[in-house]
Amino acid sequence: MNGHLKIAVQKKGRLADKSLELLKRCGLEIENYNERLFVSARNFDLDILFLRDDDIPEYVQDGVADIGIVGENVVREKRSNLSIERKLGFSKCRLMLASPENIQLDALKELSGKSIATSHPNILSEFLDENKISAKVIQISGSVEIAPSVGIADFICDLVSTGNTLKFNKLKQRWCIFESEAVLIKNNSLNNSKSDLYNNLLKRIDSSLTARKSKYIMMNIPKESLESVTKIIPSLKSPTVLPLADETSLAVHAVIPTDKFWEIIDELKMNGASGILSLPIENMIS
Ligand code: AMP
Repeated sequence: MNGHLKIAVQKKGRLADKSLELLKRCGLEIENYNERLFVSARNFDLDILFLRDDDIPEYVQDGVADIGIVGENVVREKRSNLSIERKLGFSKCRLMLASPENIQLDALKELSGKSIATSHPNILSEFLDENKISAKVIQISGSVEIAPSVGIADFICDLVSTGNTLKFNKLKQRWCIFESEAVLIKNNSLNNSKSDLYNNLLKRIDSSLTARKSKYIMMNIPKESLESVTKIIPSLKSPTVLPLADETSLAVHAVIPTDKFWEIIDELKMNGASGILSLPIENMIS
């Protein structure tokens, strides 16, 4: 036991690259991990364990790993009572009930007496119970989307992000029963020194998550537009305003929310902004 904090991440698959990317954005130096079961960060007391995502909640629950990054759907399906510390904003997907395109299906109650194939039997059963629907849940571990066409089940309940797999298999999305994204989970009994390491890492994760929600923009504006431009940028309490050699113009720097980026840029342009540059923000520390 080296006293390092241990984090479990997916070894291969949809969450693997983004999980490591997040840790690197937190300033951690992680050496080449190809085919290794675990590596230590070079500049932080952290060991990274590479596991199957299905196993991560159990490893964290049992204390083999102290924290983990995994899909929320996996945590919920495993019925684990681990606390979800943070939603991490990547690997977003929806657990959808879907039916063959050519079937008329208007109300949930029409699922009664039918069979539904899924790799998420627990989440599906809870949903059916809550809605007082008695349907047969057929658990399968992969390629759920082919179940209706090969006659295994009437409907399916599967994870969807773009929806292309369902379309390709002539299935139509009907009801979303769970929205998922990658989450940070934590064992409930970390000792003091691990708690300190965890809080330090969490601070870095938070600063990286906040930074991703914002962009830094720089632009030139006509002097007389300063008031209207200040109104457009919501977070701009006290803008950085710099004089330019051309005395009729000013340079303005500001932080804006990423999800409103294009709306704000369009409005700024309508108010005379030009030469707009945007930069990603690596960290935002309050
Ligand atoms: P993988 O085993 O590599 O396919 O990763 C599965 C995990 O990725 C799931 O548990 C979800 O949390 C997440 N995910 C995101 N989008 C999708 C999708 N369209 N299909 C399956 N899993 C997805």
